[in-house]
Amino acid sequence: MDWRFDNSYARDLAGSYVPQTPAKAPAPRMLKLNEGLATELGLDPEGLRPLAPAIFSGNLVPDGAEPIAQAYAGHQFGGFSPQLGDGRALLLGEVIDRNGHRRDIALKGSGRTPFSRQGDGLAAVGPVLREYLIGEAMHALGVPTSRALAAVTTGAQVLRERVLPGAVLTRVAASHLRIGTFEFFSARGQADMVRRLADYAIARHHPQAAGAPNPYLGLFDAVIAAQARLIAKWMGLGFIHGVMNTDNMTISGETIDYGPCAFMEAYSPGTVFSSIDHQGRYAYGNQPLILGWNLARFAETLVAFFDKDEARAVEIANERLGGIAAVYKAEWLAVMRAKLGLQGEDPGDAALAEEFLAALVGTDWTLAFRRLADAVDDAGTLRPLFEETSRLDAWLPRWRARLAPDAAARMRAVNPIYVPRNLKVEEALAAAEAGDMSLFEALLAVISDPFTERPGLDAYALPAPQEFVGQFRTF
Ligand code: AMP
Ligand code: MG
Ligand code: MG
Repeated sequence: MDWRFDNSYARDLAGSYVPQTPAKAPAPRMLKLNEGLATELGLDPEGLRPLAPAIFSGNLVPDGAEPIAQAYAGHQFGGFSPQLGDGRALLLGEVIDRNGHRRDIALKGSGRTPFSRQGDGLAAVGPVLREYLIGEAMHALGVPTSRALAAVTTGAQVLRERVLPGAVLTRVAASHLRIGTFEFFSARGQADMVRRLADYAIARHHPQAAGAPNPYLGLFDAVIAAQARLIAKWMGLGFIHGVMNTDNMTISGETIDYGPCAFMEAYSPGTVFSSIDHQGRYAYGNQPLILGWNLARFAETLVAFFDKDEARAVEIANERLGGIAAVYKAEWLAVMRAKLGLQGEDPGDAALAEEFLAALVGTDWTLAFRRLADAVDDAGTLRPLFEETSRLDAWLPRWRARLAPDAAARMRAVNPIYVPRNLKVEEALAAAEAGDMSLFEALLAVISDPFTERPGLDAYALPAPQEFVGQFRTF
């Protein structure tokens, strides 16, 4: 069994991490191995199986891995924390996958580190499997994302509001470089480390920036583009991340850190699921604004490299920040044009999309876009989803006049029928916590093929019954 680690972060960025051995799990047992992803990483799932519980619990560090806890800071709900870091995660190392892409292999829930602060360094079965499910769903939906390679129970107990079974998630990501990684060194006045991080990020994620007149500005532009595209994809899917703190926003443009995230059912811009987001800072409709806010924090770490003249550097940063709304809007419009099956581009498209959304308030996001494809010919499956159809009825003819020739098929390729709906996720996690993985497996199979409607799966396609709506909370 050959992992072929090549640990560039540990090699190139000494001073930005602490070596740390994972904690020992008393009785590790596999919950799930992602065989497809293992194969993609050049691993043989069968060969992996005998040692998998030991490796994916952290009990056995594979040859070539160099476990480290990475340092980072971050703005959490708007306030700056100068030192966060991997408090319950470890980067084992990097593997070059079968497509030549460098991927981080990290454990989450593998015990305390120097960055743990008051935390126990542990993770529980429910949240670990939640991250597994949502990451796989996002991947199948075409969203850049970290993915789960494995989930194990540790045999240890984790104390939260109640005692929970402990677990470790093995997470694969393009990298774990965050805005918060830059903030950590910037806040300490370590300009040289910020520059080294930037050089590393350019080489690893945005090599085209190396050819820009100013590579650091090139990096900033590339991260703006990658994160704007990511958030536009979230918005198209009704996805709410829930904790868009700067330590959870990647330089690669992948989604990471699935905590209190959820897919919105009834559309409302103010939708929040997270029990800790009291102000609605990370509500569905706020995500594009937070994108800009977070990128402003990133700009603050890089601004000194934008120009030798300080005033000019600030001017450049402000120009770029002022342009983010337009960059995002273009990405969002591209997403909406595809979702609506529009032909080419028309100056009225943004308004057309906005008018559909205005009609959609209160209606199930996923199902409405899916049934809109039927309405190319006949709105018979779409109209019953709406409580009030006058706005929809006024809109449909204007939309039909803009459709691409093969609109229905195109729309079904981008508007999923299956997303991990909150109630289904909760049911699967509760069963798994009690030792029954069958609901998790069934849900995983459904959301791994989200665009193909299959018989017998209505329960996965429908919004939660009314009695659950409004009381659903994630943690
Ligand atoms: P998150 O909210 O998951 O993005 O985590 C924010 C910070 O809290 C990161 O530095 C985490 O490593 C840390 N953290 C979260 N949970 C724990 C835990 N159980 N033990 C130690 N550190 C934790
Ligand atoms: Mg985090
Ligand atoms: Mg987290």
